[in-house]
Amino acid sequence: MSDLRIGVLGIQGAYARHAEMLSSAGVAAEIIKYREQLSGITGLVIPGGESTTLTRMMGFRIDYEDILNFAAAFPVFGTCAGLILLGTGCKDPRIRQLGFLDAVVTRNAYGSQKESFTEEITLAFDPGKHFHAIFIRAPKILSTGRSVRVLAAYGNQPVLIESGMHLGASFHPELTQDSRIHRYFIQKVKEINDGKTRRTA
Ligand code: GLN
Repeated sequence: MSDLRIGVLGIQGAYARHAEMLSSAGVAAEIIKYREQLSGITGLVIPGGESTTLTRMMGFRIDYEDILNFAAAFPVFGTCAGLILLGTGCKDPRIRQLGFLDAVVTRNAYGSQKESFTEEITLAFDPGKHFHAIFIRAPKILSTGRSVRVLAAYGNQPVLIESGMHLGASFHPELTQDSRIHRYFIQKVKEINDGKTRRTA
């Protein structure tokens, strides 16, 4: 095990599988339910779930501002609903976005639960082998700003993006056995932690 400690926001949604995947990739994973726990971690995963509920739950044991302050200083990986929260431009008034990824993200844009689908995508950082991406009421990334690097796309739409310390996926990598995207995030956390990469929120 490395000495990194990565949190998974555990207030709603698919957090347990993320923690399992991080542990299997060799880092200590902690389910974060209280703001006090944020001081013990060096990276955070915001899981999929329901972005409206996630927004509503912030303000209970962890405030929006706690996550905002954390994400300004440490890497955050948002998947599905977590991507919505990291992005911008969502028109739904029930959602409070953090805006760390300069990407306009709309909710449920690939259709309802019934239209959930899987797709083999290519990862820019490991193009030799497809990644089996699982989309569940997935958000769509409609546009990206100049700071954003597209790491995978499906059709014309980016589905895995990064900007500075932050990473976002519109699908659910934690529901596969393939830990490459989690390992990529761990590497980011490690480089920031070691001071090799500048903290750019
Ligand atoms: N549709 C959900 C939302 O808007 C996201 C779905 C998911 O995280 N799998 O928050």
